[in-house]
Amino acid sequence: MTETSTATRDRELAAIRLQVEGERARLEIELAHLKGEQAGGSGSEAPFHEHPTDHAGEMEEHERLLAIRENLEQMLTQCQDALDRLDRGDYGICRSCGKDIDIERLKALPYATKCIPCKEQRRD
Ligand SMILES: [Zn+2]
Repeated sequence: MTETSTATRDRELAAIRLQVEGERARLEIELAHLKGEQAGGSGSEAPFHEHPTDHAGEMEEHERLLAIRENLEQMLTQCQDALDRLDRGDYGICRSCGKDIDIERLKALPYATKCIPCKEQRRD
């Protein structure tokens, strides 16, 4: 193949976008399920800390679901952030040094915002 590395990178980025879009759709479905589960649970949307401690088991379950939900929402935010950067055209550019992040790194970790050298040096 004799194409330029830029063309190759563009195609790789398009593949990553599809991957991230798929991930976002999956996370949205999971979150919708989780919210349904929580709503169906106690039938109450009151914050868990308002419940007395005699509902310990219920609280643990609630906290567990809340932790999963927060984790999913965080991942969803990362997906959305990556897609926003793809739209703006600054995706795959290191936030620390401004150089292109290695495409193999992006394929393994689509939400990476720093190149490996910067990540390892923890430069901000
Ligand atoms: Zn860097």
